[in-house]
Amino acid sequence: MHITDIMRSSPPTFSFEFFPPKTPEAAEILYQTIRDLESYMPHFVSVTYGAGGSTRDLTHELVERIQHTTKLDPIPHLTCVCHNAEEIEAILLRYARSAIGNILALGGDRPPGVAYDKSRDSFQHAIDLVKFIRRFNESGAHPDRRGFGVGVAGFPEGHPATPNRLVEMDYFKAKVDAGADYIITQLFFDNRDFLDFRERCVLNDIHIPIIAGIMPITSMRGVKRMAELAGGARFPAGLLRTLQDCQSDPEMVRHVGIQHALEQCHDLLDNDVAGIHFYTLNRSDATRVIFDSLGIPRHRNAQASSV
Ligand SMILES: Cc1cc2nc3c(=O)[nH]c(=O)nc-3n(C[C@H](O)[C@H](O)[C@H](O)COP(=O)(O)OP(=O)(O)OC[C@H]3O[C@@H](n4cnc5c(N)ncnc54)[C@H](O)[C@@H]3O)c2cc1C
Repeated sequence: MHITDIMRSSPPTFSFEFFPPKTPEAAEILYQTIRDLESYMPHFVSVTYGAGGSTRDLTHELVERIQHTTKLDPIPHLTCVCHNAEEIEAILLRYARSAIGNILALGGDRPPGVAYDKSRDSFQHAIDLVKFIRRFNESGAHPDRRGFGVGVAGFPEGHPATPNRLVEMDYFKAKVDAGADYIITQLFFDNRDFLDFRERCVLNDIHIPIIAGIMPITSMRGVKRMAELAGGARFPAGLLRTLQDCQSDPEMVRHVGIQHALEQCHDLLDNDVAGIHFYTLNRSDATRVIFDSLGIPRHRNAQASSV
């Protein structure tokens, strides 16, 4: 479904992010997670996109599998890195044929451990990909006459590559104005960063929905991984202190992390957030605890998927 219709139907939205599994064991965990979370009837789920050829195929396959064998609405991430325009067009055609409603258009992380020449990519920044998808939409190749809904990434704490926050907002505004329909943010642990970012967007005449990215902490190892993934997430001192105090008790660390994410969600909902996007790391337990505590009803009639 086009994101405009999703956002209009029953805000705020709730959604989950998955990444394509690389091994049969990891695939089994993911498919169990999808079965667990499907009954919550999220407004959409998103699937990340790596930089290597084989993981990219896994994304396309996972997106199509979710689309064809579950009731979930998958949004593929698509990135500029290591792609030329012809390849991007072929991917868009493939997704259009599968009636995928939306794309999250991203700059993309550099491929790890290999020499990479960015100048060989057809698109240097996400804005170029947004423009390309918009032009594709005009071709009429998509079954929805509006074409794909287009999402972009937002960074409440700022993006590390542009330390000047005013310049960063100028780039961000240009990306949105190029034709974005919605924003999903990077994970954050202090809601003041999100609320301030949202306010700065309004000051810059950006009025599309901003969906907040939330990742519950479930282990001390996870904290380090998150900081790496998010390019330097800011952990509030109070949260770090509580985590450190109980670091020898993994169950307590998990409890503290989930409780913090739950409080963030309550506060975001009190502040009329457009949507909450959960970075699940392909596991359902933490997200389920939060969902149940928020009182979001399970959709009782949801049928089991065959994923
Ligand atoms: C919700 C979400 C999902 C993500 N999913 C993935 C994924 O699946 N796969 C993946 O590889 N990565 C993913 N990322 C990470 C993201 O691709 C990286 O953080 C990337 O560095 C930035 O992406 P972007 O779309 O904001 O890029 P851009 O909009 O291109 O911005 C990247 C940097 O370039 C700067 N910039 C923009 N325009 C210009 C310009 N004209 N001149 C100079 N500088 C400019 C920006 O200020 C910013 O610092 C995700 C991030 C988020 C928040």
